[in-house]
Amino acid sequence: MSRSAHPAGPRHADVLPEGHYSAPPTDLNALDPKVWSQTVTRDEHGVLTVGGIDVKRLAEEYGTPAYVLDEDDFRSRARAWRTAFGENADVFYAGKAFLSRAVVRWLNEEGLNLDVCSGGELATALSAGMPAERIAFHGNNKSAAEIRRAVEAGVGRIVLDSFQEIVRVAHIARELGTRQRVQIRVTVGVEAHTHEFIATAHEDQKFGIPLAGGQAAEAVRRALQLDSLEVIGIHSHIGSQIFDMSGFEVAAHRVVGLLKDIRDEHGVELPEIDLGGGLGIAYTSDDDPREPHEIAKALSEIVTRECEAAKLRTPRISVEPGRAIVGPTAFTLYEVGTVKPLEGLRTYVSVDGGMSDNIRTALYDAEYSVALVSRSSDAAPMLTRVVGKHCESGDIVVKDAFLPGDLAPGDLIAVPATGAYCRSMASNYNHVLRPPVVAVKDGQARVIVRRETEEDLLRLDVG
Ligand SMILES: *Cc1c(COP(=O)(O)O)cnc(C)c1O
Repeated sequence: MSRSAHPAGPRHADVLPEGHYSAPPTDLNALDPKVWSQTVTRDEHGVLTVGGIDVKRLAEEYGTPAYVLDEDDFRSRARAWRTAFGENADVFYAGKAFLSRAVVRWLNEEGLNLDVCSGGELATALSAGMPAERIAFHGNNKSAAEIRRAVEAGVGRIVLDSFQEIVRVAHIARELGTRQRVQIRVTVGVEAHTHEFIATAHEDQKFGIPLAGGQAAEAVRRALQLDSLEVIGIHSHIGSQIFDMSGFEVAAHRVVGLLKDIRDEHGVELPEIDLGGGLGIAYTSDDDPREPHEIAKALSEIVTRECEAAKLRTPRISVEPGRAIVGPTAFTLYEVGTVKPLEGLRTYVSVDGGMSDNIRTALYDAEYSVALVSRSSDAAPMLTRVVGKHCESGDIVVKDAFLPGDLAPGDLIAVPATGAYCRSMASNYNHVLRPPVVAVKDGQARVIVRRETEEDLLRLDVG
């Protein structure tokens, strides 16, 4: 894990000598339950099955590439978060990780709330029946039209991200004759990635209002003076793919410090704090994520302790996991097209998708695992790089992976833990068509987001 433990994030950590990869796994046919969704197993022929359906059938029926999403796994992770945080806290699923109408319905049924950060995400949420009061609206540059739509719909909270937005939302709420519940997003000078975090006095990024220099306190002061805003709390989000809770500890300490200043100055104890999302998942067997109940316990202890020290009533906590709920629930199913051994280097395995369905490897140097899933194999491991079909040499899906030496065109391989930030960040690069999302459960499969067609592409191109 030394690669992703670089303090500035995995993007900066790629300084190890070529060939620095872990030894081949002892059993290439094994499916580590840490990285695969919970109903995944191999049948007696060695074919991977999920939700009771084998991948050869899925490939035949829905084609490849395809995202295959395990509905039971999604629901049970959502429920685990809900249960872990209990009645005194709220869980908001971060819709940007992956959003579709089916997912919105599952979240609604499992009692979760929903974060959206654009008009499109808001429209999806509302069209699938998520009650507006359970929606939080985020973003550093919400348009006036988006704000109006959110206020009209009656969203439960708008997370204010700048001084200008405080006035903008207040103005729109007043025009609409309503009082909008808002949180103020602050940057606390904590940047957390994986096993490291950096705590500074300042944070050089586009989101939120800095605590530094009293700016966040000034923002709260202004918002409290506006009748059309009901300031319900402070929001902080410190990073992504985090395993270590100490970054949250520093963030909570600083947010509680702000709550105390607000109490001392205005006599107001804000009732809520939101600690954001960013909890990590296992992309490879080296990652050891925490369970929701451990995270809930740690966060609530941190906030309670900080509030006792500051003599404040403990506020209601909310959290916003995206990746930690949907990430592990899906894998991407690909068909192998070409297998190209490069003497003394590695074997390039080309699949029928690539950076258009998973940009994370190219964008963040993300690590993934991969397995042969249409059969088992006793062949010796070979070092591969799984690449896509795009006209770009950075089009890499899995940078270093061991696959069986007898891998051949027509085999199906699958990349696990692609539920988050893959379909939601998918593109049409090279006019490649975005894959479908197929949900499986109890031996049934159904398309919840269909495959794009050339007609879809040409419909937008009006000539
Ligand atoms: C992206 C984001 C999240 C979700 O992050 P995950 O890493 O998917 O848990 C939560 N809150 C905010 C404000 C975000 O921007």
